[in-house]
Amino acid sequence: MPLADILGQDKAITYLKTLVKQDRVPGALLFYGPEGIGKAKTALEFAKALNCLDAAARAQGEACGVCANCKAISQHTHPDVVFVDFLYQARLEVKKEFESNSYEEELEKTLTKQQHIKIDTIRNVAAKAQQKSVGKGYKVLIIDAAQTMQEEAANALLKFIEEPPQKTVWILITSKRTAMLRTILSRCQPLAFAPLSQENVEKILQDNQLETENPSLCAAYSAGSVGGALKADEALSLLREAGLGINGCSPEGPTAVATGLSRTLATARQEAQTVLDVLLQAVHTAWTNAQGEETQHRYATVLQQLEKYKRSLTRNVSPVLVVETALCSLDGLNLPLFNGEQND
Ligand SMILES: [Zn+2]
Repeated sequence: MPLADILGQDKAITYLKTLVKQDRVPGALLFYGPEGIGKAKTALEFAKALNCLDAAARAQGEACGVCANCKAISQHTHPDVVFVDFLYQARLEVKKEFESNSYEEELEKTLTKQQHIKIDTIRNVAAKAQQKSVGKGYKVLIIDAAQTMQEEAANALLKFIEEPPQKTVWILITSKRTAMLRTILSRCQPLAFAPLSQENVEKILQDNQLETENPSLCAAYSAGSVGGALKADEALSLLREAGLGINGCSPEGPTAVATGLSRTLATARQEAQTVLDVLLQAVHTAWTNAQGEETQHRYATVLQQLEKYKRSLTRNVSPVLVVETALCSLDGLNLPLFNGEQND
């Protein structure tokens, strides 16, 4: 999939293609914007364009997608392109002290524990950056979730992005630019990625065969990201099973949704958050369309309550309890949650 096929990021893509065409790339770039909108995909496509063996494609600022370099980058096996994420880090850690039959199991366990990009990982990548290139293209070092770097890791990285060797580019990817060290930010060329339109979210879901119960409904509740659409799908299916829809909630609905949450606390909290996001959006839409002062007031009150419940999720409150209470607060409300599929 060349750069031109990445949906909804025209401004960023045009800029990157110009860099490829001019063969002049800054030593460090920062891709920022909401999660699940194509930043990592773009970074890899950009790395392909910078290393593509097809000169005609490169002259257009593009990658051919079929040469040996393009293929190797797609498969994460090109020695000059490193993509660092929690999986990469978990592999480094497991490799160090664990080589046995239960490697996959150990890897999985290590992966679930990952919360930060660590200094050892930065050193590992920096060492690769210093090595001589295998090809004639660029060394591209991509760090996903860069905001999770521990301070010592970020400080170590600073040294390397300050004076990168020629034909070397670091790409830091983040959904939380404000959580990053100012010293890092000041050394990176920032590149904004925009939330996707509902149509593009729906199209990406379909093009990538990401299955959802109702792609257009998930896209509507996605807040402009594919990741958001997939989360919304889970929340909507919980709400659908519990009989929450245009006709209100079934009596056992709130309990059914609450007990449908994951048993792992951290996951349950995230699921509860998405359920509340979906409800907030549905109530907000209903409030916008409401006729009459009394009805508007009723929706406005519920909106405030839902916001309060959502905030309580960040404290030590049980997500099950929060979801149950939130759903009960919708009692008697005519909420068009599943617009377009309420006829069955
Ligand atoms: Zn190519």
